[in-house]
Amino acid sequence: MVKIPFCEFCVKTRVLCQKCQSLLDSGRYQWLDVEVSDALLKVARKINLSEVEYVKSYEVDDLVIVLMRNTKRIPRGAFVQFEKELSSALGRSVKVVEYGSINEVIAQIVSPAKLLTISTSWLPDGTTETVVKIPSRELRRLPIRPERLQAIISQISGANVKVELVKERELRA
Ligand SMILES: [Zn+2]
Repeated sequence: MVKIPFCEFCVKTRVLCQKCQSLLDSGRYQWLDVEVSDALLKVARKINLSEVEYVKSYEVDDLVIVLMRNTKRIPRGAFVQFEKELSSALGRSVKVVEYGSINEVIAQIVSPAKLLTISTSWLPDGTTETVVKIPSRELRRLPIRPERLQAIISQISGANVKVELVKERELRA
C-alpha cells in the first residue's frame, strides 16, 4: 500500500484522530494533503503503488503538485496512468514530482519546458535568493505561468525565488 502520513480510516472518513489532527495543527500538513492521500488510496486499488511514499502537495491555480518518493520505480506507462487516475480521483490536474534536491524538483515542475540555470545569490540583507532562468522560447511549454511558478517554488523550497525568462538574443550576447 502507498505510504501516507495519515491513518487510512481518518482519510476515508475525513474525521481525524488526535494523531492525524496534530499533523495539521503543527502546520506540517494541510487539508489538501488529506484530500490527496484519499485520492492516492483510491488509485492504489488500480495501480501498484506499494513502494511509493507520499511527501507533500502544493496547489497553484487548479494544478496540484504532488511530491512523492520512489516514483521512479513505477514503470513509465503506469506512471502516466497514475497521474491521470490521480487527477480524476482528485478532480484537479495533478503533476507528480519525485522528491529530491530543490534543483531536481524545479526541473520536474517546469517540465516539459527546459531550464537554463538555477543559481543562488546572497542579497545585501543576508538572505539568499534562488534565480531560476528559463529561455523565453520555452514559455509555451511551461505548465504554470511564471509568476505562479515563482510562488510555488518559493513555497516548496522555503526560499526567495525569482523566475526569469531570458530572451534568445540575451543568450547569445
Ligand atoms: Zn488518524
